Amino acid sequence: MCKFYRYTIGLLLFSLLLTLSGCRSSRSLQNSSFVLVVDAGHGGNDQGAAGRRSLEKDINLNVAKRVCKLIRKNCKGVAVIQTRPDDEFISLDDRAGMANFYRADMFISIHSNSARGWAEGTETFIHPSARGSRSEQLARYIEQEYARHGGRKSRGVKTANFAVLRQTRMPAVLTEVGFISNRQEEKFIKSRKGQKRLARCISNAFIRYLRQNR
Ligand SMILES: [Zn+2]
Repeated sequence: MCKFYRYTIGLLLFSLLLTLSGCRSSRSLQNSSFVLVVDAGHGGNDQGAAGRRSLEKDINLNVAKRVCKLIRKNCKGVAVIQTRPDDEFISLDDRAGMANFYRADMFISIHSNSARGWAEGTETFIHPSARGSRSEQLARYIEQEYARHGGRKSRGVKTANFAVLRQTRMPAVLTEVGFISNRQEEKFIKSRKGQKRLARCISNAFIRYLRQNR
């Protein structure tokens, strides 16, 4: 399908979803001075990494939902769009395409990490071409929040040529909230309390970014 039609259908679908879920409609999108896209990594058939008792796609979605809720509550004039409000598969192209279609001002993708050996902590990625940019600014704020208020071990800001970072035409970060492969950390990131705290960190970092750039 040609891109234009795909995005038009996407727009209609998402306007419908936003309206049905009682979130901001596309009308208030026009009145918003800032558009934020929150992307919960993986979904549907693509479960992402697997822990002992949890799947990455579920952790990502729960944290993303909380981030959206917090920002909608605390940031007037910010329209928040979720790439997937539920457990469904969306291609990487469509995630980036959606953010470009809405001319978003910021794109935040939420993931959980996995490693073969022992590994612990959070890390936030930006595209290699985004050093010194607003993407890096937000990424630093997020990592600072994790370390200062989230009780997490920050592994810092890193670069990677991830599709969603490469294809989005606005500042974009991909944050890994912890290692699902680490028994202790999985326990934290799958818990309600842990997810609340992680979402608070991401939301507070975003609020700090907004204050600096408005
Ligand atoms: Zn992932």
